[in-house]
Amino acid sequence: MTIRLVSVNLVLTWTLAASCFGDELPGRAASETALRSEIRLVPLKQVRVEDGFWAPKLRTIKQRTIPHSWQYVEGEIRALRRAAGETVEGEPNGTWGEANLYKVMETVAYALALFPDAELEKRMDEIVARVAAAQRPDGYMHAYVTNAGKPPWDPAFLDGSHDGYVLGHMIEAAIEYYAATGKPQFLDVARKAADQAHRHFLGPQGKPGFCGHAELEMALVELYRATDQQRYLDLARALIEWRGRGLVAPAGPTPRAYFQDAVPLRNQRTLEGHAVRAVFFATGVADVAVARRERDYRLVANRFWDSTTMRRMTITGSVGPRREHEAFGEDYELPLDGYYESCAACGLADFAQRMFLLEGRAECADVLERVLYNAVLHGIALDGTSTYYQNPLCDHDRPRDNCWVCCPPNLSRTVLQIGRYAYGHTEHEVFVNLYVGGRCTVPLAAGPLQLDVQTDYPWQGKVRIDVSPEKPGSFAVNLRIPGWCDRAALQLNGRPVEPLPVNDRGYARLDRIWQPGETITLELAMPVERILAHPNVRDCQGRVALQRGPIVYGFEGLDNQGLPRIELGADPRDVAEYRPDLLGGVTVVRGHTADGQAFTAVPFFALANRDKSWQKVWVAQRGLKPSSAWWEGRLYRPLRLERLQP
Ligand SMILES: [Zn+2]
Repeated sequence: MTIRLVSVNLVLTWTLAASCFGDELPGRAASETALRSEIRLVPLKQVRVEDGFWAPKLRTIKQRTIPHSWQYVEGEIRALRRAAGETVEGEPNGTWGEANLYKVMETVAYALALFPDAELEKRMDEIVARVAAAQRPDGYMHAYVTNAGKPPWDPAFLDGSHDGYVLGHMIEAAIEYYAATGKPQFLDVARKAADQAHRHFLGPQGKPGFCGHAELEMALVELYRATDQQRYLDLARALIEWRGRGLVAPAGPTPRAYFQDAVPLRNQRTLEGHAVRAVFFATGVADVAVARRERDYRLVANRFWDSTTMRRMTITGSVGPRREHEAFGEDYELPLDGYYESCAACGLADFAQRMFLLEGRAECADVLERVLYNAVLHGIALDGTSTYYQNPLCDHDRPRDNCWVCCPPNLSRTVLQIGRYAYGHTEHEVFVNLYVGGRCTVPLAAGPLQLDVQTDYPWQGKVRIDVSPEKPGSFAVNLRIPGWCDRAALQLNGRPVEPLPVNDRGYARLDRIWQPGETITLELAMPVERILAHPNVRDCQGRVALQRGPIVYGFEGLDNQGLPRIELGADPRDVAEYRPDLLGGVTVVRGHTADGQAFTAVPFFALANRDKSWQKVWVAQRGLKPSSAWWEGRLYRPLRLERLQP
């Protein structure tokens, strides 16, 4: 049956415009005094992913990535043994390397939540015992510092030793291992270490300071949520508040903005500095805003959000273009050959998730979707065993570097969380943010609600959701209408719901008394779009990118007579075609160049999985003269809006 598609353009335009504010919150402040902090995530164990897109990727991480990862953290395990007093052969780890071990452990924790495995759990328990043995009696835990005889939380080295970065990743791994297995030992170690940090900074002899690589802030808020202990939230807030006050001397000439220390929080207008640190810091700020319902924090989190997503993010969801200091640049500084570290993309996914918890806006999940389906998946090879540290928008013959400085286990831990990224809920409503086939059990006040999702997303825009409350009950189902979609149709139990009930947050909302066994069908039009970047993005001028649904496409020399120059014709007749034989099964885009030659584009995430060749996202289009109108706060928009010009 064909469903009539209803325009949602007006609503999306409003949403984009409304998210562009400065110090005040026009509209939102007047209409809603209550913050949306009651939104919670659905525990990962309550989401089963059973689709044709994500489920194979999760299995690859369980079956290939995790076994492959252990070899890269042997030095970290040696360091734990040395810190526990053993004599060990071989080099132990460096400053931040221990975080890689904890990121692998967090990946394993998610894997165990999804795929129980007694042997893998036994291996984890052995490492947890080594972590516990390496912990100092006062609770401090960073094997590198212990082995090097350095003082914990050395203020002279706070921008280099990564105490907080390492501890933050340990806390997150411990929380997830407890959630997956119910075993408390790792969480006990993490709490003891967090208590030591609390005494060190906020105890009677406490001194202000912070770790120059943000991460501990968000982990402490997670620990506060997991334990309900206020002191962890207090420490998270203090580590944020102490920045920008000249309290920590950099070890070298590094600018203070590098670790978000240039000015105090409330004076920060944009997200600056080392992109990974910056995005992790922003996530911590948003986390504190959610937990404390603190207006200043909400305001700054929104400033960070707007500066990043409206002016400093690639079409693929990457941030941090500069090689020097691995940093954010100026507004609209988005070079095609930029740096764009995988960890920054992973961090942006978490920042987007926290902004959704804070604001309940579909636009936050739009960014979450953009980064997960594009930059994050591009970072990790289809076979799950090699990675990219950088994710530029044009490249040539560069092999995957598989650089284990930091990114590989961050990518695997991010991908395995897909089921949790997909949903949010309050006591009386559920939010479906990502359309992932499978089953989700949501704990509502009326009782557990089961959602069964059937879809071929992202290749097809049709989503069927069977809504099965335990008993009849009143609650709302919120379906995200993606920002890329301007024609959507909704059916309830086979009957059209018209007009589309899209609210001012970008969700189609069905608030009613539900019976067991009701069915929603959502159909999102998914034409191939040629996308323009804002006129201020210099490297994209005269160029277009291809996008279909959430998937951004790229051109590879292998499919296009070697390239390097490709110029599309001005009259787009691009078509989508599913190719089960290609790259594990992907939808490609086919069309013709200005010279009449056939071209094929493949999903950006699948680039660089075959033989070496050129790769490009932005390509020339003959005679392209885009208008400077129709931007309204957008960073990217479809070319076809040009036709609406008077
Ligand atoms: Zn990294």
